Amino acid sequence: MFPFLFVVLLSLSWRINASALPVQEFLHCLSLRSQNSSIAKLVYTQNNSSYSSVLKSAAQNFRFTTPSTPTPLAIVTPLHAFHIQAAVYCCRKHGLQVRTRSGGHDFEGLSYTSAYEVPFVVIDLVNLRSVRVNVEKATAWVESGVTVDELYDEIARKSKTLAFPAGICPTLGVGGHLSGGGYGLLFRKYGLGADNVIDARLIDVKGRILDKKSMEEDLFWAIRGGGGGTFGIVLAWKLKLVAVPANVTVFTVRKTLEQNATKLVHRWQSIAHKFPKEMYPSIAIARVNSNEDEEKMTIQASFTSMFLGSIEELIPLMEEKFPELGLVKEDCLEMSWAESNLYTSLYILRSPSETLLNRNQKSSISKTFFKAKSDFVKQPIPEPAFEGLWSKFYEDEAKSASMLFVGFGGKMDEILETEYPYPHRAGNLYTILYTVDWEEKENINSEKFMSWMRRVYNYMTPYVSQSPREAYINYRDLDIGTNKINNSKRSYAKARVWGVKYFKNNFNRLAKVFGGLFRKYGLAADNVIDARFIDVKGRVLDRKSMGEDLFWAIRGGGGGSFGIVLAWKLKLVPVPANSIAHKFPKEIHSSIAISRVNSSEEKGKMTIQASYGICGLWRENGRDS
Ligand SMILES: Cc1cc2nc3c(=O)[nH]c(=O)nc-3n(C[C@H](O)[C@H](O)[C@H](O)COP(=O)(O)OP(=O)(O)OC[C@H]3O[C@@H](n4cnc5c(N)ncnc54)[C@H](O)[C@@H]3O)c2cc1C
Repeated sequence: MFPFLFVVLLSLSWRINASALPVQEFLHCLSLRSQNSSIAKLVYTQNNSSYSSVLKSAAQNFRFTTPSTPTPLAIVTPLHAFHIQAAVYCCRKHGLQVRTRSGGHDFEGLSYTSAYEVPFVVIDLVNLRSVRVNVEKATAWVESGVTVDELYDEIARKSKTLAFPAGICPTLGVGGHLSGGGYGLLFRKYGLGADNVIDARLIDVKGRILDKKSMEEDLFWAIRGGGGGTFGIVLAWKLKLVAVPANVTVFTVRKTLEQNATKLVHRWQSIAHKFPKEMYPSIAIARVNSNEDEEKMTIQASFTSMFLGSIEELIPLMEEKFPELGLVKEDCLEMSWAESNLYTSLYILRSPSETLLNRNQKSSISKTFFKAKSDFVKQPIPEPAFEGLWSKFYEDEAKSASMLFVGFGGKMDEILETEYPYPHRAGNLYTILYTVDWEEKENINSEKFMSWMRRVYNYMTPYVSQSPREAYINYRDLDIGTNKINNSKRSYAKARVWGVKYFKNNFNRLAKVFGGLFRKYGLAADNVIDARFIDVKGRVLDRKSMGEDLFWAIRGGGGGSFGIVLAWKLKLVPVPANSIAHKFPKEIHSSIAISRVNSSEEKGKMTIQASYGICGLWRENGRDS
């Protein structure tokens, strides 16, 4: 079910009967489990003529739609939560992995393909599209299959001064997007989309529907930014809506190298994070033909911003903060906040009466073959380094390459790294999204584009975050590490290598949440809620006075390393009344050892053996034995 983070653990748990070819059995199971509803009409197998078009319908990265890409045994397009529950149950029963798809924007195609040779089913939430806005309470319930354009449009229909702070690209699916964070035009004012989720309905690995109240606190924390496809299937999200003016201002000012682009970009780095929170500052870098000489190439920096205010307010602000850009009234447009998203992502101007964008709308890195990566910048990059970077854009492979810089600061500096799984907060000047795309006929040489991207990424190493080199989970990049499906022994150690890049220290908490999904109560150390502890300076500390990191370390970090634990406060757990081992007299220690052995009945066959061990203390002839 969780293809990405902890694929090994998951696949062990779910691939119980993978030996029987499951597609027919899966379909049979579905029809039995789905309360005799007409689920068959909602399932596409390779025998359906529309299988391929349904599969490709939301796939944004065509790199994963070629004939060599592993495809699902079936695509289920549920109408109701119980359809999903049935699909989850049947996948589990028949040893199939689940891929959940909402908008299909995963950079590595993980919502509709598999990097591993395992049978899988896609649960496509395209039919779960309701949005319910409560203007008085400034909240909305939105189903995961809704796109952000549909969400913004529905909010705008109900109120011109309410909005939701999520991503810019209109076709993003709410499901995957909020699962990984989600930043957009309002993130400097209000934080990420995931920071503004106040409840959710989740189907967990056991097929149960949970909400904030019924799920563990840590699980609710994890699903708000811990990465899509990992902790279950989010059916719907309850969002806190935020205030925006009825009209905002947008502008794009384009500068080439001949117009001083390098100096402007260099200057922007030091000021963008200090702009008022009401501003979304970005720069898109790409190669273009020079205006002066068509034969000559140059680099163009497009400074695009959205400002929560009027043109009259923006112009003096820019004159004060960034006079070098030379922004004038004529560069600016006023429009509603919902429209400003279309303008900043696609340069589309939509009048309020126009209908919604189609889900197949193409943008620079959607509905094309592409590779993308991300970085976070903490110190301004020196000018000569930019000059070195520009030269890479003149290489053949970079004809459609681009880099997007988005200024941080504002609200992002105020949210603690640990408050949500997304950890890239204070201390970042800006983030970089690198993309390179190519056409179908060039896909035979896709490796040359991929290697261009990797060269640029290597070139940037000295100038971006280090130890770890941070990355954004929603800009999934399998280059920074994956787990091999059969390498269960070292899955955690391996996952940590790339896990800390996406989540920094939050990775440990996410790993525990994930582990907890498969265990009822976790390890003993997981159930320690306080401790009395003597540290190296001889101080007696408790949970409050030792701090979260030390408290985290003493619960499983190894004895004799951090100090002396005097006492533990434990969380006790209920056990069912009808199990017996815990009711044995306390003089008895009982255990079961499970191992694989050769069957004594049939030569060559293996079986599982449970060895029951009992050790007791009793008195014999007046003596302890
Ligand atoms: C063209 C383009 C523009 C983008 N613009 C932005 C932007 O402005 N801001 C930003 O922050 N990011 C942006 N992104 C990145 C985007 O946020 C992520 O790709 C996000 O995961 C997309 O969600 P999705 O539902 O569309 O994708 P999907 O491919 O459907 O899902 C992505 C991942 O989430 C899982 N998932 C999907 N639905 C659910 C669910 N209901 N419950 C649990 N897991 C689920 C999938 O299994 C997969 O692992 C952009 C990506 C593209 C391709």
